[in-house]
This record gives sequence, structure tokens and C-alpha cells, in this order.
Amino acid sequence: MNAIYSNTPVSPKFVDRLRSMPKAELHVHLEGATDATTVWELARRNNVTLPASTMEEWQAMYTFRDFNHFIDIYFLATECMQTPDDFIFMIERFLEQQAQHNIKYCEAFLSASFMLDKFPQDEIIAALIEGVKRGEAKHGTRLYFIPDIARHEPETGHRVLDFVLKGKEQGIFIGLGLGGKEVGFPPELFSDVFAEARRQGLHVVAHAGETEGPQSIWGAIRSLQVERIGHGVRAIEDQQLVEYLRKTQIPLEVSPCSNYRLKVVPFNEPHPIRVLMDQGVYVTVNTDDPPMFSTDLTSEYLLLARQGFSWDELWQLNLNTVEASFLSDEEKAIYRAEWQAFVLQ
Ligand SMILES: [Zn+2]
Repeated sequence: MNAIYSNTPVSPKFVDRLRSMPKAELHVHLEGATDATTVWELARRNNVTLPASTMEEWQAMYTFRDFNHFIDIYFLATECMQTPDDFIFMIERFLEQQAQHNIKYCEAFLSASFMLDKFPQDEIIAALIEGVKRGEAKHGTRLYFIPDIARHEPETGHRVLDFVLKGKEQGIFIGLGLGGKEVGFPPELFSDVFAEARRQGLHVVAHAGETEGPQSIWGAIRSLQVERIGHGVRAIEDQQLVEYLRKTQIPLEVSPCSNYRLKVVPFNEPHPIRVLMDQGVYVTVNTDDPPMFSTDLTSEYLLLARQGFSWDELWQLNLNTVEASFLSDEEKAIYRAEWQAFVLQ
């Protein structure tokens, strides 16, 4: 695996501090956070055939040639998740992993377009509630879901919305997202569904500006009126857009390792989050699909430290994540106080 650009040595003490700082995360996919071993176990349990004869071969397929290759593997992984109990199991493991990095609060995507035909909606919602209840009790990390529409399956849009509204009533979903293949499926295709979601009081977010350029980000802002943008790093190709993002402070959910692994950013270059932050754009740090990109949230902050970010800058990014969350002001205040207590230690 190629080494990602770094120009600044970091002490083990600094790494410990990054690991122990309380964190929040806003852009991580439940299915993509499920590691290769777990997917392999689920495949065996559910009699799903993967195109690999050993666990090692399956693991080796997590080296992605490009974005479409990644989506193909991601889809295969979701095929192995066949029962509501699988989701309870995955959520408990996910929250265990998040707690290892002291992630106190998390908003995670669910690939809803891929699950609609597998389970009755009530059953899967009950399983998600149960998984969150068990995981939160054991590991102390709070979790809400943002189910997303796979943009390359646009016909699922209204059914996903219906599912999200049901789960919102039960307190487990807080928003609607848009993921999947960005190329060929512009945000404008989803303007009706997103308008309805906003009317129904859902928060709305969309992946944009990852494999497509600034036009996709403008589309997500103008057609979908998103409150945050997943990735958005290709905004740097359009100075007018950078200026718009600076003025409006629409947060970007940036996932540096994901961008390197999917070749959105070349390995030998610093990540554009530096330029975006320096120009006053509101940025946050996230993992996207941690085991698929050999990362975790501590490693994401560490990567930025190795690219010259100071402790104060990393701390600001960490605070940004709480402020950009969909929590109420009262709830944010609780996390702010916890973050403050860490600084005073
Ligand atoms: Zn993502």
C-alpha cells in the first residue's frame, strides 16, 4: 500500500492525546464500518457466496482500484447482511469500535436502498432500535442513523423516504442522505424527494464533490438545499464555490483516508482540507468506511497532524463536528462541556 503524504513527525504522546480526546463523527456508513471478518462471518451464516475462497482473499479485495470497484465490494458486503439480527450484531460491534476511539456521539448512514426488499420496515426498525439500545448501554456511544438513497437506484427514493419517516417517529433516524455513484446521477434527480423530506422536518445531507466536481456540490446546495455536504473536497476547483461555502458555513464532512484510498486525492499530495480550512470553509473530520480504508477516527486526525496541523487546529476540527451535528442546542451544550473538561485535565 502506498504511503500517504506526510511532512511532520508526531510524538507517541501526541498520538495518545488524539486517541483519548472525546470525539463526534458525522460521516460513517454502518455497512462500510463492518470489517471484512464480520462480513465473512455473515456470509457463511447466511449462505451467501462471496467471490473469494478464503477470508484472506476477501480481505485482499478491500484494495480498491477506483470508486466503482469500491461500490461493487460495498454492495457485495451488504448482500451478506440478510436478517434483522445481523444488524443488531453489526451495531453492537460498530459502537464497540467507536468507543475505542472515545467517540461519544455519532450520526451514521444506513444504505437504505439496499435493504428495502430484504425486510419488512417495522422489523428492521425494531432491530436497529435494539442494536442501538444494547450498544449504547455497553459502550456509552450515542448513535442516530441517516438512511441514504443510493443515487444509482433513483427509483428507491420515495420508498426510502417513507422508511426514514417511520424511523424518525420512533426516534432512531434524524435525516435523509444521498450516497452511491455520483457520476451519472446528479442531485437534481432527487429534488422532489428531498423537498418532501424537508417539508416533513427531516435534516438533509448529500455526498457531493467526491468523484464529481463543483457542479455536483452546487446541485446539492441549490436543488436539495442540503445542510451538510459529504466530502465536498472538489470545491477547491471552483473559487466562487469556496467563497460561497465560506460565507454560508455549510459544513463539509471530510474523510481524508477515504479520499486517498479511492484516488480522489493523489497519495503524494497534502489533503485539500488544509486549503479549505485556511480559506474559512467549515470542515469536519470523519472516517467514511473505516475498515475498508484501513482507518479509524484517531488515525484521521493523526494523518492531519502528520501533514502539519497543530493541536489547536485539530481541536477546532473536533469542536466543529459537535456544532455541525443535528443535535439540539441543549444537547450540544452537554458535549461541549465534556470537551471542555478534557482540555482542563
Ligand atoms: Zn460516504
